[in-house]
Amino acid sequence: MDHIVYYTTGILVISVFVFIILEKKFPYTKGLKIFREGFWVDLVWYTFIQSYFLKILIFDYILTPIDNHYHLSSLKLVYNWPIIWQVLFFLVTHDFYIYWFHRWQHHSKLLWRTHEAHHSNKEVDWLAGTRSHSIEILINQTIEFAPIILLGANPIIVPIKALIDAVWGMYIHSNINVKSGKLQYIINGPEMHQWHHADQREVFYSNYSTKFAIWDWLFGTAYLPDKKPQRFGLYYSYPKDYFLQHLFAIKKIDEEKLLEHKGFKAYYELRPRLMKFLGLIKDKKPDKVKQPETKMPAQTLVEDLK
Ligand SMILES: [Zn+2]
Ligand SMILES: [Zn+2]
Repeated sequence: MDHIVYYTTGILVISVFVFIILEKKFPYTKGLKIFREGFWVDLVWYTFIQSYFLKILIFDYILTPIDNHYHLSSLKLVYNWPIIWQVLFFLVTHDFYIYWFHRWQHHSKLLWRTHEAHHSNKEVDWLAGTRSHSIEILINQTIEFAPIILLGANPIIVPIKALIDAVWGMYIHSNINVKSGKLQYIINGPEMHQWHHADQREVFYSNYSTKFAIWDWLFGTAYLPDKKPQRFGLYYSYPKDYFLQHLFAIKKIDEEKLLEHKGFKAYYELRPRLMKFLGLIKDKKPDKVKQPETKMPAQTLVEDLK
């Protein structure tokens, strides 16, 4: 069991390099830098720190206690299925769930609060998909891994499923100019998911699929024009700081205003200063909050577009 994690981690690291190389060679949007705005927030906070703590919370404090109480996994309901069938079963059922939950997040004012972080990157690449509010991850990964644990799947399904999620997640967000032809009716990829992140009205309610694009085609939400999006991200201003992004789900915060406070400014500039000190970034002004033009007030987000 333990060594499977070495393999999955190895494949994950190799995949990162493959995606970075392919993004350089065949960019979907030209001129996008590796160290784009928000790169470090996504890598350090969302990818490493948040997922580390959420994994402990979901597995050790939610799923294991539930299983200890009901002993469902001991029934081993799917344990004897071939591994490939177990993987496919959990892959397809979860993907069907996530399509509808994602669609609901875009239609419900309340649930949108848990999802807007995911749409906040103005440049979308292999790493951009990791940006998801911890509440969103908590809901989705608990629902994803609960049946795997409670139906008594083979324990190797957990790291295999986590690897598939990570690699497929990087793929659909990657800035690679993929032309998958008819395959795009079944397998989701950047062709459709890059559009899902566009700041363009015509796609606000399209392309909800994660792994299998077939859901969008079946349920009438597919959008795949010949052109490419002009802008990405949210149409209203959104904080760049990890903690403010989390707080934003509860209370709308004006980051620019907060920067007028010395204490916050010192904290905000700590990371760029430290990186400059370590020689990791060139002499450049610390990230300043740019206010994107607001075309409509944030509150009207869902109602307005219904
Ligand atoms: Zn979305
Ligand atoms: Zn996405």
